[in-house]
Amino acid sequence: MANAEILSIGTELLLGEVLDTNSKFFATELARLGIDCYYRVTVGDNKDRIKATLKQAFDRSDIVLTSGGLGPTADDLTTECIAEFFKLPMVMDEAVLKDIERLFAERHLSMPESNKKQAMRPEGAGVLHNPNGTAPGIMWVVPEEVLAGAGVCDPARKRAILTFPGVPSELVSMWAESGAAFIADNFLTGAIFSIELKHYGIGESALAEKYSALLDGTSPTVAPYAGQGECRLRVAAKAKTMEEAKALVIPVAEQIRRESGKLCYGQDEDTLEGVVGQMLVERNLTISVAESCTGGLVSKRLTDIGGSSQYIKLNAVTYANEAKHALLGVSQDILDRFGAVSEECARAMAEGVAKLSGADIGLSITGIAGPTGGTADKPVGTVYLGLYGNGQLDTKLLTLGSKLSRQEIRFRTSSAALNMVRLHLLSRNLVAQ
Ligand code: AMP
Ligand code: MG
Repeated sequence: MANAEILSIGTELLLGEVLDTNSKFFATELARLGIDCYYRVTVGDNKDRIKATLKQAFDRSDIVLTSGGLGPTADDLTTECIAEFFKLPMVMDEAVLKDIERLFAERHLSMPESNKKQAMRPEGAGVLHNPNGTAPGIMWVVPEEVLAGAGVCDPARKRAILTFPGVPSELVSMWAESGAAFIADNFLTGAIFSIELKHYGIGESALAEKYSALLDGTSPTVAPYAGQGECRLRVAAKAKTMEEAKALVIPVAEQIRRESGKLCYGQDEDTLEGVVGQMLVERNLTISVAESCTGGLVSKRLTDIGGSSQYIKLNAVTYANEAKHALLGVSQDILDRFGAVSEECARAMAEGVAKLSGADIGLSITGIAGPTGGTADKPVGTVYLGLYGNGQLDTKLLTLGSKLSRQEIRFRTSSAALNMVRLHLLSRNLVAQ
């Protein structure tokens, strides 16, 4: 089984000026392909050190993915270093040069001499086209004699190198358009299929315990992942054909969905906001949201979904007490006696926003996102959610603790609020469309 190594090139990464998101992207994509990634290395824009990391990478890994250093300037050294490492001359690719010249001409700019460098490649290396920028990469199964010439260990073993520019959007599109398929064609035998089951309302360890018998399996493998208040179970299998891989995964995924019940809200690309939107459409219901501590985040997530105008009536950020009172009709008595962060206020806000807009469902969020504020009985991370629907009022208290950042408290609150709507909708009937 082939393995890969990720090489991030750029002094700015070592200085902490730029966060290495490209490595994270490659790592995720390699895992998705089922290729083990054993090493990630970061190196600055220095020829000797880049060549040393290339030697190390080819000695111990089959696939080397590099990002950065493909630009036209003097500190962009990746391609030159690869040529020097493999003891190959750099040659000009006339077709690539024409492409770069055309890009400049289209922008009515004359091409600086330095950009010619981006059309140079080590002799024999294949091109990895870049549809969104001037710097193409190389994408190349390195021949055995070239590996041997560079003194790489075990040169008979198949190796490849793919180089990408540092600009994340260019790297992602090059990977999607050609890189991933190149690796699959050259290094994968058989097919991999996976389904990720998204859970809300259960922690990673509880989920792992619930499915401990499945977690020991090898075909399919079942693995839990946690993040941002949610948990995912990834069911994956490798087989000779895609049909066989699917046949191993689907029954187990179905079993988990059944056993998880309401805890599992969807799979793969599903999001809480997308699922809630779909459920509102299916039930022909509308929603309005009154937010305080989330400052519009729930509304943002709901309106991220195309077509959400079909079911959203009114989203209000009622931060000040006066707004809660004047717009939503929260009584002064409630605000004085219980405060804005209270079950009573959440109830009044939910009912108020539903009635104000005529929506079927009113959702409210009021709490303390921190880092300051909060009292002994209502510390940072105390949030009340309210939901008015079907003539009933529900509330939920979240105690998220003060260790989370303001952003995390807000995000987790928004997920809890969306999930509250989801659970409410599960209890309401579908309507024939
Ligand atoms: P380069 O191809 O080295 O000229 O990089 C172009 C730009 O891409 C740099 O200025 C960085 O802002 C960005 N960049 C480079 N490497 C990375 C990386 N590993 N992750 C995210 N951004 C990067
Ligand atoms: Mg650079």
